[in-house]
Amino acid sequence: MLLGIGWLDPGAVQRWRQGQIDCLEGAVQANLSRISEGMKLFRSWASAKGLFASETHYVARTPQRQTLRFSRSGNPKIEKLYRTHWVSRELSERKRERLADKASRAPDLVVIQPLNDAWTCHRCGGTGDLLMMENPGPACLRCVGLDHLEFLPGGNALLTRRVRAKSARHAVVVRFSRSRRRYERQGLLVAPGAVMEAQRELEEEKRE
Ligand SMILES: [Zn+2]
Repeated sequence: MLLGIGWLDPGAVQRWRQGQIDCLEGAVQANLSRISEGMKLFRSWASAKGLFASETHYVARTPQRQTLRFSRSGNPKIEKLYRTHWVSRELSERKRERLADKASRAPDLVVIQPLNDAWTCHRCGGTGDLLMMENPGPACLRCVGLDHLEFLPGGNALLTRRVRAKSARHAVVVRFSRSRRRYERQGLLVAPGAVMEAQRELEEEKRE
């Protein structure tokens, strides 16, 4: 909602979701009394319109998956107000549930395949083929606790879907394309064994 009225820039929200900003209030371009005034107005507008209040869980895009904090104070009452999304009554119950699910789902972990291999982990001083960006700098997969995962290259949508369903945790692997000037998906890091298991399953289904 703060995004919509221009008090927050989308970049700040992204940094917050990646756990790089302590609390969202710190990034808001308006002072606290204006924020609370704005939220009060919005709440009365939403209930007058008959919108449903739906609480959403915000989780960081880091391996620790910490719950994201909105307010500087961390006061549970205020946090709850921020987490509340307003949903139209015209949506069916199932649709509302799906929406709430989607909003609460933790964002994918993102692992980078660096173009330049001369990088060092800010935690242990090591290096590697893959890294994860943290606030102070790049970190190796061992330090972030993802080094046991196995790489599944993209390209096979069916296999990817199956493996993803079997893997308790996964991370998206991206690489920067200089020509297209953006990060492109290379594949997934998934639980070891999940790829083999999914391949076996698909083979069996083919035989049946
Ligand atoms: Zn390290």
